[in-house]
Amino acid sequence: MSYETLQLLIDGKWRAGSEGVSEAVLNPATDEELAQVPHASEADLDEALVASLRGFEVWRKIPPADRQKILEKAASLLEARIDIIAENLSKEMGKTVPESHQELSFAISILRWYGEEGKRAYGREIPARAIGVRQIAMKQPVGPCLAFVAWNFPAVNAMRKIAGALGAGCSIIIKPSEETPATAISIARALIDAGLPDGVLNVVFGKPAEVSEYLLASPVAKKVSFTGSVEVGKHLQRLAANTLKRCTMELGGHAPFMVFDDANIELAAKMAVVGKFRNAGQVCVSPTRFLVQDAVFDEFNQRFLDETAKIKVGNGLNNDSTMGALVSARRLEAVDALVQDAIGAGAKLATGGARIGNRGNFYQPTILTDVPKDCRIMNEEPFGPVAAVSRFVSTDEILTEANRLPFGLAAYAFTSNPAITDMLADDLQSGMLAINSLQVAAPETPFGGIQDSGYGSEGGIEGLDAFMQTRLVTYSRA
Ligand code: NAD
Repeated sequence: MSYETLQLLIDGKWRAGSEGVSEAVLNPATDEELAQVPHASEADLDEALVASLRGFEVWRKIPPADRQKILEKAASLLEARIDIIAENLSKEMGKTVPESHQELSFAISILRWYGEEGKRAYGREIPARAIGVRQIAMKQPVGPCLAFVAWNFPAVNAMRKIAGALGAGCSIIIKPSEETPATAISIARALIDAGLPDGVLNVVFGKPAEVSEYLLASPVAKKVSFTGSVEVGKHLQRLAANTLKRCTMELGGHAPFMVFDDANIELAAKMAVVGKFRNAGQVCVSPTRFLVQDAVFDEFNQRFLDETAKIKVGNGLNNDSTMGALVSARRLEAVDALVQDAIGAGAKLATGGARIGNRGNFYQPTILTDVPKDCRIMNEEPFGPVAAVSRFVSTDEILTEANRLPFGLAAYAFTSNPAITDMLADDLQSGMLAINSLQVAAPETPFGGIQDSGYGSEGGIEGLDAFMQTRLVTYSRA
């Protein structure tokens, strides 16, 4: 099957960048060039801004029930095209084809959910203090939006923003990652083919810092939504301040994975492997600090190692691969640097710890134990297939360690003790907490972090609300 044709989408037209600039998209499993992705010039970005304003005026006036029909048709088109889109996603990002299928199915369910929920963007009537007066708090779409998204979930990251904006009645300009452009283009094609009016969705690529700086300086867009690193999120928020754009920031994490001595250890070890090594660890909610209580430390470690040994690393397009390549040589180097730093500081290497082969960005599933707390990996997000396991003795110490870092995205705990569950629910600093489970994301539930992991939710009614503003209208009998 051939790779997607890489184009910009501006005002409903698929086209190249006006200055003819482009960059190569590489297959992370083979290092081969897949295609060139076109860069938008400043003139192209200006056109996208004008188109998004026009598109907004058209889209916001279409009743939500009719908007939903277009989103539903796009969801059906994506379902019909899922095999080819999944293969291209794996080609450009490295994950296995079953992982790509799963991601796309989730993205399609997000599109359907927002299409439906847009019909329920209720305002409210507030009883007035005088007879003959009506006070209505109306919900309205905020306006044209901007989105910048990372490469790790090319479908879901993009869909959360596109579907949220469209469900609310906003238009959007999205800059997906230049490393994984085909997936977002395929999503946009389905929406255009389903009848989305011109200018409602625009897709651009370029040098990330230049594109975001240019678009954020314009007063046209009223909101920006970003998925990526803490550092870039803070930078974009500073730029957004100049025009007072609303922000949703879905940033990095460093999730604790706590295993208490009353836990089902077999379940905990299985979940540890699924949670840590899916998407080769390139997941913002990926568990990183494995904190295991003394009495079950050896049993958990043995089971974790045994399960990890079953992983088959290889080209995501191969049927027998269960973990694919990292997205880029840059990530491969970054992950290895964190592992070598930990080993140098005295951490024990239980398994893995090295690159596989010299073609493609393959890294061994890696488990480190007894990792000193001041190592880089205990403080920085590894965003790769590396687990750092350490021991704790008493339940009293767990909150101090789990809450030690400025991040606050996801946290996981394995316990059968309701008192521990209550303590964690009350006092753990994370936007999401899963107990005896890995479940932190569904279309209908709010997904997002606190502290340095960002703010604002994607998913759930909170996710729709993030693309809406409240306006008070008072009617008085003349
Ligand atoms: P990076 O910060 O360079 O890039 C992350 C994404 O942000 C890329 O897709 C890039 O296109 C975009 N980006 C970068 N600079 C930008 C700018 N000035 N304006 C707009 N977009 C910009 O990091 P990376 O090396 O690609 O990934 C490594 C780190 O990124 C990880 O350690 C992790 O913290 C973070 N990350 C987080 C998520 C997440 O889901 N929260 C996803 C991917 C990456």
